[in-house]
Amino acid sequence: MRKLVSPPWNLVVSDRVVRTIQRCSNKVYPLETMGALYRSEYVDEVSVCLCVPPGKNSTHELNTTYVDEDFWDRWTKRLCDKGFVYVGPWHTHPGQKKPLPSDWDLNGHLEYGGYGWCRWDQKEFGGNGHFQLIAGDLCMRMWYVRPDSIELIWENDIGIKR
Ligand SMILES: [Zn+2]
Repeated sequence: MRKLVSPPWNLVVSDRVVRTIQRCSNKVYPLETMGALYRSEYVDEVSVCLCVPPGKNSTHELNTTYVDEDFWDRWTKRLCDKGFVYVGPWHTHPGQKKPLPSDWDLNGHLEYGGYGWCRWDQKEFGGNGHFQLIAGDLCMRMWYVRPDSIELIWENDIGIKR
């Protein structure tokens, strides 16, 4: 079972993570894209320190995106072997200045197996909580999601707009 340490955290999102998200987004703008966030097991504070792109077989549409599952599986295995822990996904909302979770993000939809953030936390993280980062045109925001709560825990002033 994937497990995060409990809040409060000293959350650090590295410049490299931000730049990777910008680069991936600019490749397909104005379409959506997404990827995965990892932290090292060997630091005390939860720092989101690695960011994996969607993979070459990912697909991108105006309001949704699908990752390359094989690519993600390979990366997760490789990173877990090196002591990194998957903490949740990132995705983009091109055209939205300050990103907010959409109805689909919160309630789920058929294409993602019908899971919204909270139910997905129960399914994938055993209800222990996970991160969701959304990048908008003017800023990026991160939420901590548990089965019964969604809390905004981080934002910057760097967006994806070219
Ligand atoms: Zn969204």
